[in-house]
Amino acid sequence: MLFNIERHEKLRVKNYNNDDINVFCSELIDETIKRFHEETLWPIHKLDLEKDEEAKEYGFKDLYFGSSGILWLMHQLNQKINYKEVINRSLELYLCQRSDEERKEASSLFFGEVGIRLMKNKFDPSLENTSKLYDLIHTHIDNPFNEVLYGNQGTLIAAFEMLKSTKDDRFKQLFQETKDAIFKSWKWNDDFKCFLWAQNFGEELTFIGAAHGTFGNIQALMYCKDLLSSDEVNLINNRTKELLIELSLCSNDGDVNWRARVDSEKTPLLHWCHGSPGIICSVSHFLPRDKEVDELLLRAGETIWKAGPLKKGTSLCHGTSGNSFAFLKLYERFKDEIWIERASKFLAHSIEQSKEMRKEFGDYRYSLWTGDLGIVWLNHCLKRNHASLPILDII
Ligand SMILES: [Zn+2]
Repeated sequence: MLFNIERHEKLRVKNYNNDDINVFCSELIDETIKRFHEETLWPIHKLDLEKDEEAKEYGFKDLYFGSSGILWLMHQLNQKINYKEVINRSLELYLCQRSDEERKEASSLFFGEVGIRLMKNKFDPSLENTSKLYDLIHTHIDNPFNEVLYGNQGTLIAAFEMLKSTKDDRFKQLFQETKDAIFKSWKWNDDFKCFLWAQNFGEELTFIGAAHGTFGNIQALMYCKDLLSSDEVNLINNRTKELLIELSLCSNDGDVNWRARVDSEKTPLLHWCHGSPGIICSVSHFLPRDKEVDELLLRAGETIWKAGPLKKGTSLCHGTSGNSFAFLKLYERFKDEIWIERASKFLAHSIEQSKEMRKEFGDYRYSLWTGDLGIVWLNHCLKRNHASLPILDII
C-alpha cells in the first residue's frame, strides 16, 4: 500500500453551492478580523502550540503559523486591516523575544525573521528593513538546512522578491551567491541515481517532498526562473524528470506516491509536506509535457482521490485543503474538469472538518498553513481555476 488508509476518511458528500462556501469563507474572515488583539495579535491554537511550547510566551509571528501569513492572506483578499501597524507589532514582538544569535540562526523565510520582514517590505518598507533583510539572507547562505521552509531555498525567494521590489543591486549579488550555494549542494546520489539535496545535522537526512525536500527546493528555484539562465532551467527540468521517475513508487493496482525520505521504509504519507500532493504542487506548473511524467502525475492524483480526505484536518500543509490544491494543479496542467470537481469536493470536506474542529476546540485555527485559513485561499484559487500556493507561487 502506498498510503496509510488509517490516515484517511471517507469523503462526506455535502451539497454545498458556491454561495454556501462563500458565506463560510466570509464568516471565517470576519471572525479572523474580530479575534485580532492589538497587543498579542491572533490566538494560538492548542494544536499549533503542541508543535512549539515556547510559542506560548510570544505567539507565532511567522508566515507559516503566524500573523505574517494571516496578513499575507488578508492583503491578497483586499481586506481592510491596518497592515502597517500589525506587521510592526509582529516584528517588535519577534525581536524582543530573541537574542541576536537566535535571530541569525532562525532567519528563515517561513519560520523566521526573513518572512516577517518580507511582509514589512510589502506594508511598511524602509531602507533599514531592506538592509536588515540583506544581512539576514546573507548570513543564512551557509545554514545546514537544504529546504524551502528553513533553508536558503526559501531565502532565495526573498532575495528575488527584494530585488524586484527595491531594484537594490545588492540583492542581485545576494541572489547569485545564494543560488550558487543551492546548485553546489544539489549533488548526485549514487544509491538513488539522481541529484538530491541532503540536510546535514551530524546525521545526513535526504527528504524528497515539498516542505523539507528536493521537490520544494526545485519549486523555489523555478519561482525565480526570470533570473536563471536557459541552461539552468534545462538542467532543472531534466533533473526533475529523472527524480520523479527514479524515486516514484508504483503499486500493481496503479497507485503512485513518493516517500518522505529516500531511505525511509515507512508507508509514505499523502500530504503537501510529504508525499505526492506536495510533489504535484511543486512541479506540475512548469515541467514540460512528457508522456512518462504525465502518467506519473495523473496516477499520483488518482491515488490521492482514492485515499480520500485526510483525517488530520483541513490544513494546506498536511490536510485536506493541501490535497485539494494538488487536484487544482492537475486541472491547470491537463485541463480535465474532473480535477476541478475533485478539488471542490475536498474543499467542501475541508469546511466540514473546520466546523467540527471549531466545535471541539471552541475557536478556529488562525494559521495560513496549519489552520482553517487555507480554506479561504483554496476557495479564492478554485473560483479562478488557478492554483497558487501562498509564498511559493505568489507573494
Ligand atoms: Zn505538514
